[in-house]
Amino acid sequence: MKSAKGTRDLLADECRQFQQVESWALQHFSRYGFQEIRTPIFEETALFVRGIGDETDIVSKEMYQLTTKGGDELTLRPEMTASVCRAVIQHNLLANDDLLRFIYMGPMFRYERPQAGRYRQFHQLGAEVFGSDDPLVEVETIEAVLSFLSPFQLPNLTLRLNSVGDSSDRPAYLAYLRQELDTHSGQLCQDCTRRKETNVLRVLDCKNEACRAVLDRLHPISTFWSTTTRDHFEAVCRGLDRLSISYVLDPMLVRGLDYYTRTAFELQSGELGAQSAVLGGGRYDNLVATLGGPDTPAFGWALGLDRLVGLLAARKALPEQRPHLFFIFSQREQLEEFLPLLARLRAGGHSVQFDLRLGSFKSQMKRANRLQARYCAIVGERECQGGTVTLKDMDQSSQREVPQDHLPAVMKEVCPC
Ligand code: AMP
Repeated sequence: MKSAKGTRDLLADECRQFQQVESWALQHFSRYGFQEIRTPIFEETALFVRGIGDETDIVSKEMYQLTTKGGDELTLRPEMTASVCRAVIQHNLLANDDLLRFIYMGPMFRYERPQAGRYRQFHQLGAEVFGSDDPLVEVETIEAVLSFLSPFQLPNLTLRLNSVGDSSDRPAYLAYLRQELDTHSGQLCQDCTRRKETNVLRVLDCKNEACRAVLDRLHPISTFWSTTTRDHFEAVCRGLDRLSISYVLDPMLVRGLDYYTRTAFELQSGELGAQSAVLGGGRYDNLVATLGGPDTPAFGWALGLDRLVGLLAARKALPEQRPHLFFIFSQREQLEEFLPLLARLRAGGHSVQFDLRLGSFKSQMKRANRLQARYCAIVGERECQGGTVTLKDMDQSSQREVPQDHLPAVMKEVCPC
């Protein structure tokens, strides 16, 4: 048996990389006032249909939908923004605090064609800010995610930025787009011919050369921006400039979800091949109201954790996890006697291991080497009689005898944690 197509097991190394990224995320984003939120993995199907838009690829093709025995229509979440909005509305969270910041992490599900970096169950880290339409929300939240990524030193990252307008100016652009595409309909690929009728903005995303040739001749959406949209966008750019954050203006950038208004952005990596987007997001000032909540401007992004961890693994950018101390015993009775000391060392923050099977000295040492233990504590008969252990520094190949009672203090000194 194998895991289902497009899904995968995260084995020890990858789990460790996920843990490291996730714990750094909680620490980093709490500095900006973000709090974690966890919502159910499935929701009522209507939430995503209403929130994401029924003409989007996600809703029309990619949702894992199911009808329960009781007749409920449920869907495994394909993204979490709609769920977070639902939770905000359901718990009336804006009544207590009208400026809310959340981060979330967890698996999402989309029935897509699997390929490198694209899975059917994948993981996102995301952030959402509710309650302000100030362009500084974009600036601060984009800065927050870039500084979150900065310790990982990912090369070749490009921030792409656009404004997709709002209900005051986008309709005119969409009408223009449809009209122009109608006159060139013979040159469009099948997908674009369909999108032209159902979700025309998505045509801008097409990679087909013939479609690109048509699109490149058209006016960009910025020609249609209202003064409000333009002012907002310029303020976002000014804020990023002030923080010396470089970006590329991309008039063709649109997002796969219908709810975006005004600012849309993506972070791409030159090292990810066809699936180059590390994260994407934007402003969604109408979504909370669309889902039945109060009129609430909002902004957010979602980052693909599988892609981030993939980039880090490829660059070996994460530290290895070495046990601090590996015990080698010659007798089983010693092991039992040492259990309290092992517990004390672990309570002091050290990772401590031993080979439960207690084979020969050689086989235990082999395991210590395989795990790349930093130190070994050898407990033979002589050490037992003298109440000591032989502490071997595995990197320096030096050793010394240490009284058992002093071991926690010595470890604290030589291997601070
Ligand atoms: P989206 O929710 O489509 O805006 O995607 C946000 C981010 O999630 C993307 O930039 C990717 O890094 C990641 N992502 C989206 N879909 C997948 C997938 N099928 N497999 C892996 N990562 C994905």
